[in-house]
Amino acid sequence: MVKKEDIDNSAIMIADDIPEGSRFDYYIKEFKKTSASKNGDDFELFLSQIFRHCLEYVFPKSIPRLAIKTRLIYNNDQYLAEEKQADSNPKTIRKEIPKMASTAFVIDNGVIATIHFNVERLLTSNSASLVFNYVDTAIHELNHIKNPRMSEQQIHDSGIPILEGFLGISLPDTFKNQKVSDYYFP
Ligand SMILES: [Zn+2]
Repeated sequence: MVKKEDIDNSAIMIADDIPEGSRFDYYIKEFKKTSASKNGDDFELFLSQIFRHCLEYVFPKSIPRLAIKTRLIYNNDQYLAEEKQADSNPKTIRKEIPKMASTAFVIDNGVIATIHFNVERLLTSNSASLVFNYVDTAIHELNHIKNPRMSEQQIHDSGIPILEGFLGISLPDTFKNQKVSDYYFP
């Protein structure tokens, strides 16, 4: 889980300098077309395509030990209610309990890992932030699934080169050097 203000700021900082032809640049252009169509199906298709790319990137050769599904929750209150239930569910993959509403959580039933996304928190009026938030969250949760024993800080740190390599960007130091313990109960 990453504090939303921080990811918005990072996305804005990098949005001024998005490498032409990078995957990040491509997604932002695609997202602008998708949002222009005002069709919810196009939005979901767009996110599912990005997710598939993230999955292939995080698991380049290996097959995940679980089937991985996504569930988009559009309403923040509904997300919070499900997240609260998930926190008392031993099958939720999470190292620490976040202090504030997270952007996603994973429930692993032993066969399928389902990543629940808090779409209301990910959505912003800025296309670059939305794409960045979604990719950052998807890679973070996939990294948890791949490395179930890692702490939140290890997930954050090991996720940086994956996120940079995937999007074709350089992240600001403030983002890279985040101490994620501030966002979790001790
Ligand atoms: Zn996490």
